[in-house]
Amino acid sequence: MIDPLITQHFRLSEFLTSQTATRRGIDNTPSPEALANIRNVLIPGMQAVRVILGKPVHITSGYRSPSLNVIIGGSPNSQHVSGHAADFRCPEYGPPAEVAHRLVSSMQRLKFDQLILEGAGPSAWVHISFAARPRNQVLTAYFDGGKVRYSGGIA
Ligand SMILES: [Zn+2]
Repeated sequence: MIDPLITQHFRLSEFLTSQTATRRGIDNTPSPEALANIRNVLIPGMQAVRVILGKPVHITSGYRSPSLNVIIGGSPNSQHVSGHAADFRCPEYGPPAEVAHRLVSSMQRLKFDQLILEGAGPSAWVHISFAARPRNQVLTAYFDGGKVRYSGGIA
């Protein structure tokens, strides 16, 4: 597959690859509309994140087809399904909480829709989404026995 750089640091494949999809034999090919969002909204947004952090960004989950989203147990209106959201870590910059704080403090120049610090400690990750009319909403997600609870801001 030809997989050119879309921006200076990101290739399309980084946002389409899913170990779960591969393992379970699920087609994770985006619709033309979702593909357009990934290329024109999500990847440019992640490039801005990459520039602010100044270190390699590792996408752990990008696009999710509707069937993959069901298997993963994602929210039915997840922005991963529309191609607007990605989960990532940036270990060379620091733990996910530090990454989240850095991005929140850069809100003047980084227009995101939602930024969620998901989980705690080194196994946490940052969820971020981008949209035409960004809300710049900041949340922390806590997982208690399979249930997710959100609170405003980054702890
Ligand atoms: Zn996410």
